[in-house]
Amino acid sequence: MTYRVSVRKVPSPGGSPLSWDSVSINRLTDNLDDLLLTSGFDTKRVRNAVVLLHPNLVRPHRSRPASFTDPRVILATVELFRRYDAKEIQVGENPGFGFSARRAFFEAGLLEPLTKSGVKLQFFDEGEWVSVPNPNGRLFRDVMIAKPVLETDFFVNIPKMKTHMLTQVSLSIKNLLGIINDDQRILFHRNDIADKVVDLNMVRQPDLNIVDGLWAMEGQAPFHGRTIEEFNLLVAGSHTAAVDSVCCEIMGFSPEEVPHVQLGLNRLLPGWMTQNRLELTGDSIETVRKHFKRPVLSSMGQFHGVECIECGVCNGCLSAIRHSLDWLKDEIDLSELEPVTIVSGRPMPNIKTLDTWTGQLILFGNCAAEFQFFDMARRQKAIWISGCPPHVLDLANLIRERLKRSE
Ligand code: SF4
Repeated sequence: MTYRVSVRKVPSPGGSPLSWDSVSINRLTDNLDDLLLTSGFDTKRVRNAVVLLHPNLVRPHRSRPASFTDPRVILATVELFRRYDAKEIQVGENPGFGFSARRAFFEAGLLEPLTKSGVKLQFFDEGEWVSVPNPNGRLFRDVMIAKPVLETDFFVNIPKMKTHMLTQVSLSIKNLLGIINDDQRILFHRNDIADKVVDLNMVRQPDLNIVDGLWAMEGQAPFHGRTIEEFNLLVAGSHTAAVDSVCCEIMGFSPEEVPHVQLGLNRLLPGWMTQNRLELTGDSIETVRKHFKRPVLSSMGQFHGVECIECGVCNGCLSAIRHSLDWLKDEIDLSELEPVTIVSGRPMPNIKTLDTWTGQLILFGNCAAEFQFFDMARRQKAIWISGCPPHVLDLANLIRERLKRSE
């Protein structure tokens, strides 16, 4: 069996993720129609069907218009499935980490236009969850999936094309994190996130993936990346791993550099590496390729005035620390802070004692709690941030709080 993936550079529809009109949505709808027909999509599959669209709306904010699925793409997809005679169109998301879906739709500027156009909004975090057995999963025995995802006739995944601090890229495979319950979402946000997201893809493969690269994001995404305006690329295909492997190549990554995509190919499409199972239609990868700036995960030596000591630490804590420091450096001059040392990971037996490090000591993550046992005298002076990993903004909030108090 081959998997078809369709790639299209489209003319600029006009407007932006923050402002658009019906002319730009109609123009984009025509381009999407062309993309799907080129990908071999059979429109009869959605006639009289309930169609659920799942965009990426993780902490949308007007200052980061390329970090979430472009509202123009969502509205054009709604329009397109209407043309294909879908019975009902729904749009659903769970942004996770304490950010409500209702707020995410509002911040993305979608609450009103989608409601007005008769779309049924599915706030997954306010609805029911169903535990689905996952016999072939490596990490998750059962996965808590939002009920509408299991009930819909046709499930459309609409991720954003962007790099990602923790997983190198965030595309179709990873976007399925938005259909699971928060209790499971926060778990395994470490190196094992790669197997975790592939497990999710085993439970419910979307029927169609449309990757939104109208505006894309590179570097320290999703919160501190650089916006690539007017990239105007759309990619569509039926299998998440096949689509993501093509998107990686477009972004200048080899799939082997991206653990969850490589695992996705190995585990979801056995034989992919040895047989030619990709059928590419539309534009060639070479003609649309752009080398996206890679995200940098480590904070060591990157922030003047903040010493970061990374011992036996995994990607979960590294990503959370880097997120917080990237966030803070946009707000304050870090070099003017009182000296601070952030220690993450596990100590080794002959490690220096805590009092050799400069300034206020912050032990970050559950693993770092072990440092306290090496130097009982300093035990009261280190601040410990618990979690495995802690929330990405815990460190930023702590430093902000200390600054406020010192003022
Ligand atoms: S606490 Fe340890 S295992 Fe957990 S994310 Fe941090 S370094 Fe990884």
